[in-house]
Amino acid sequence: MARVDLDGNPIKPITICMIGAGGFIGSHLCEKLMSETPHTVLALDVYNDKIKHLLEPDSLPWAGRITFHRLNIKHDSRLEGLIKMADLTINLAAICTPADYNTRPLDTIYSNFIDALPVVKYCSENNKRLIHFSTCEVYGKTIGAFLPKDSPLRKDPAYYVLKEDESPCIFGSIEKQRWSYACAKQLIERLIYAEGAENGLEFTIVRPFNWIGPRMDFIPGIDGPSEGVPRVLACFSNNLLRGEPLKLVDGGQSQRTFVYIKDAIEAVLLMIENPARANGHIFNVGNPNNEVTVRQLAEIMIQVYSKVSGEKTPETPTIDVSSKEFYGEGYDDSDKRIPDMTIINRQLGWNPKTSLFDLLESTLTYQHRTYAEAIKKVIAKPVAT
Ligand code: UDP
Repeated sequence: MARVDLDGNPIKPITICMIGAGGFIGSHLCEKLMSETPHTVLALDVYNDKIKHLLEPDSLPWAGRITFHRLNIKHDSRLEGLIKMADLTINLAAICTPADYNTRPLDTIYSNFIDALPVVKYCSENNKRLIHFSTCEVYGKTIGAFLPKDSPLRKDPAYYVLKEDESPCIFGSIEKQRWSYACAKQLIERLIYAEGAENGLEFTIVRPFNWIGPRMDFIPGIDGPSEGVPRVLACFSNNLLRGEPLKLVDGGQSQRTFVYIKDAIEAVLLMIENPARANGHIFNVGNPNNEVTVRQLAEIMIQVYSKVSGEKTPETPTIDVSSKEFYGEGYDDSDKRIPDMTIINRQLGWNPKTSLFDLLESTLTYQHRTYAEAIKKVIAKPVAT
């Protein structure tokens, strides 16, 4: 049966220029596009480890529909040509790990703003559609965070639910360099929006709310630097794999909503295949039903990991660390992130499906299967003196 869009029209195969295709989100999106759609992907990235299984061998059913182009968009003259060859560009390339925002603020700002500029420019000049990946971090802190601790208004959703077309962007002072990322992302969103308004660029902006799942970030010392600090899912996975206590930054009181990567990818596919419904919009993509504090996340992960690995839980399951110790000077945090789902529901009829428990069960099963042996070998090695 022919695949149809949300309005019942047949979907024509298109070519997609995917920048940052080798990362966590890109790898899942490529997988989805290859296995369930007829579209062609020009996959651009500096690495391809996470999509190797889609590129080789030549006998794969989608061979010829995905090609890898090893390039850094910072300095490669092939970029414009690849954007011109495609119907749609999806830009996923950026530094997006909080440990970098305050310690490498220049790289963070360059990668999220300056390096994205030519992509926006080439799309606008060549009348190509753009789906740009931003972040829920553009909302910064909630209005409620500034109310007195005991104010009953803190319980009123008007003070914390984040709406694409209404909520303000609230960042800390300049010396809190944590916000370099949010600020760079906000400015590129404003630039894309202005290109749409003044030059007719067809754009969609995605604001991911803590998408998690297999292949996210890296496990320090295994497939990433030993001293590297990935996002919370990989930090806690690493601690569990090594039988160490999970580190709760500043008491683990911040709240997050986590969405399963496979649910989120469904939303992106709807955007790709329904341009008339997605163009000109900014979409929150998250799961408002999966809210926990970071401390609760740690507790659930400890329980789930013990179930999937058969290992007993460590005697000291968690320890508190200060953000200064863990991230260094200039760290700050978003207090709470609940996405409003009105716009994505109305435009695309999308809803997340997977509960936090279920998504952690499948993700931690993957982490255990992928890393447990490698970790054992590393731990067994005598430390060089
Ligand atoms: N966090 C933590 N321990 C860790 C890593 C992160 O307590 O080992 C906290 C971090 O301070 C933040 C939350 O977990 O409050 C989520 O952090 P993440 O790096 O996943 O990204 P964010 O949601 O802040 O963009």
